[in-house]
Amino acid sequence: MVVQIQCECGYVARGESDDRIVGLIQDHMRLDHPDLARTVGPEDIRGWIEVVG
Ligand SMILES: [Zn+2]
Repeated sequence: MVVQIQCECGYVARGESDDRIVGLIQDHMRLDHPDLARTVGPEDIRGWIEVVG
């Protein structure tokens, strides 16, 4: 299974486990969207997961 999360800026985190891509998006948000990173938690991020394969 391949899952992805696309950030609103166009950044895409893709991988084979939910936990891994949630971590990637959290890292990305801390770097590029620090305001968002403070308000969005892991459970919110899980809601953005799409299964792509
Ligand atoms: Zn982004």
